[in-house]
Amino acid sequence: MGGGARRTRGPGFRLALLLLCALLLAGGPDLAGAEFVPSPPSAAPEERFFPETGFGTAGAFARFWARNGGLPRFGLPLSPPVADPAGGGLTTQYFERARFEFHPDYPPQYRVSLALLGLAALGDRPERAAPAAPCADDCALFAETGHTLRDTFQRFWIAGGGLPVFGYPLTEELREVNAADGREYAVQYFERARFEHHPEHAGTDHEVLLGLLGREALAARPDIAGLPAVAAPDDPGAGRTIVLDAGHDRSTGGAGGVEYRDTLRTALALRPLLEARGYTVHLTRADDDTVLLDDPSLRPPDAATTPYDAGYLEGYAHASKILALAPDLAISIHYNAAPSGPGGGSTTYYCDLGGPQNRLLAELVQREIALALRDRGYTPPYSRVEEDAAIGKAYGHLATLGNVNEPAGRTLGNRMASLPIVLTEALFETDPLERALIADDATLARLAEGYARAIDAYFARQ
Ligand SMILES: [Zn+2]
Repeated sequence: MGGGARRTRGPGFRLALLLLCALLLAGGPDLAGAEFVPSPPSAAPEERFFPETGFGTAGAFARFWARNGGLPRFGLPLSPPVADPAGGGLTTQYFERARFEFHPDYPPQYRVSLALLGLAALGDRPERAAPAAPCADDCALFAETGHTLRDTFQRFWIAGGGLPVFGYPLTEELREVNAADGREYAVQYFERARFEHHPEHAGTDHEVLLGLLGREALAARPDIAGLPAVAAPDDPGAGRTIVLDAGHDRSTGGAGGVEYRDTLRTALALRPLLEARGYTVHLTRADDDTVLLDDPSLRPPDAATTPYDAGYLEGYAHASKILALAPDLAISIHYNAAPSGPGGGSTTYYCDLGGPQNRLLAELVQREIALALRDRGYTPPYSRVEEDAAIGKAYGHLATLGNVNEPAGRTLGNRMASLPIVLTEALFETDPLERALIADDATLARLAEGYARAIDAYFARQ
């Protein structure tokens, strides 16, 4: 709408709405959730900008830089991330002492690798083919390259990440004049680095430095400065924690007494898909024996003196467990039950009281659930998202999405504020056709893929 659009409701209405929300959110003492501080889905805290060179670190490169030694190890960034035409479009970034590369097809822990600058700098020098020095205590001989690693350099190599970071030794320790300052140092070449021993820094973090191979390599590639910066690469789930709530447990069983098993099967199918995307994943329960209510810390603070019904207590315990795991996003997985007879359908519930992010997450999840079911040859009678309060229970849906309709006289407050969380009822246990789909591992695998895509899509919009 343009600037001339007419308001149909005046500021008085909005003020009333704000007051209502404030009252609802204030609720009462937020007892069980008092320690919960929602962690917003935000940029990696490792991201930095360096005015010294005018470049910064972000994404997976920032995390690798920060976690593997930072400034003393790799030096300042000398370029933005660029798509290197000489590397087939590989995303790389130059630092003073290394060049970072992002390999999206590698396993997550190796996607960021240091370029083979040690190998390139050493070239065909005779030291590479020289025989290994005798190797005894405090020494390792690498048959792969026929060279040894010992003493200070060995300790540095191990502490700095070892083989995946630096690669194999390509020479023995040798002495050479450093091009940067004209002085002679003990050095050793590795596939991805040159170690330099600086006795003037003995006892400090700078006693062993990586040679300035990134700076030297960049000097040989004047075309890099003319390339456009590209977005810092990243894994979609890096730095984010997901909680999968396998709805119910054997204390109630859930729909048909079997739902709790199927919610766990679904969570277990989804977990590895999320972990492969870089997410950290926790389950509220990892097996069918665990009963969350057995943990007193997960009960309402007045559980001993208040006659809550079993369903409320079970849901409350699951919600408490979700909060205790402090996720960036949570999905409570359920399957539905009709009070009488067959009748299927697919719903994802969200709670506006918990924040506007929930409706977006619900729509993304439900769309993927519908696509997954269609891929399995099934179109449910309906596929929808629904506000949690609409189901008309005496409390929020299994007390999980925010206690919007609490038992009379109870004001435990909105425990879920700002945490993206939805509750799914993808299929009905009580409908024979849908029950057969739930029992089919192939359906759950496809549903799991859909959940993972929806979670990626949610964070991609943040
Ligand atoms: Zn359920």
